[in-house]
Amino acid sequence: MSLPLKELIKIGENQLKEAGIADAARDAKTLYCFMDKLDSVGLMMHWQDVLQDKVGEEYFRLIERRASGEPLQYITGTQDFMGLTFNVNPSVLIPRQDTETMVEDALEILREGTLRGEKYYGASNAREILDLCCGSGAIGVSVAKLFPKAKVTCSELSGEALKTAEENARVNGCKGIKFIQGDLFSPFCGRLGKKKFDFIISNPPYIESDVIPTLQREVKDHEPVMALDGGKDGLDFYRRIAAEAPEHLHKKGILMMEIGYNQGEAVKSLLDETQKFTDIQVLKDLADKDRIITAVLKGKKAENR
Ligand code: GLN
Repeated sequence: MSLPLKELIKIGENQLKEAGIADAARDAKTLYCFMDKLDSVGLMMHWQDVLQDKVGEEYFRLIERRASGEPLQYITGTQDFMGLTFNVNPSVLIPRQDTETMVEDALEILREGTLRGEKYYGASNAREILDLCCGSGAIGVSVAKLFPKAKVTCSELSGEALKTAEENARVNGCKGIKFIQGDLFSPFCGRLGKKKFDFIISNPPYIESDVIPTLQREVKDHEPVMALDGGKDGLDFYRRIAAEAPEHLHKKGILMMEIGYNQGEAVKSLLDETQKFTDIQVLKDLADKDRIITAVLKGKKAENR
């Protein structure tokens, strides 16, 4: 039984719809393009082609993987982020659009010295940047690519994730990024002192442990729990970062972190309690939810704010 391509894709779409996949039409097309190495224009050009059975079989193997809840990006192996293409696999979180908002904020600070249009108090000449808990490297590699003056370090506990981040630097043509494996700041506590940065940016795990089983199956069954689980109240990593980051920032150094939509007040209090930070701001994402927190390490006594 040979089928025209457009019918094959329609059957794929219906199978995904029945399995409750929200973007069934898009995913059915994307999986075909992935299999046949086509872009969307190429797909249109072949829309009326009649296909051989074995093509259909291969296609439905991909459709079945997606129907069973495997994220599209783990099947195709890529996700676009900040206009770049990143390799992804189950050892790394799939980069999210919310995180692009944070990278855009960081780039505005680095390039313009402003944050969402307002003059920014933090280190005006920030160059040494740490992407803490880098996962796929989406943040660190994007900053290095889009602000080439940056000297970026990416750190990560998972060796598999760190390998993926290194690969992403390579495929995006970013030389000179340092990759370091270890638990939060431990690799930056040497015998000769603590390594300091101008700007620490992080998307740490921040989901409450009990919430994880309630997430979409794509997330809870496929994405790395280690990249999601922020402990009982979701704040474990913020607690440790708030306590340790001051030792790893130069004066007026910037700490910028992604947060959960309901964590703004709690993370602000954690940073406040250290009495080391000033200018703590909670910023919203495109859906108008709290998503990012920024803080500046206090400067010399005279210029404390
Ligand atoms: N934003 C991600 C999610 O909702 C979580 C990211 C994280 O824990 N750092 O799935």
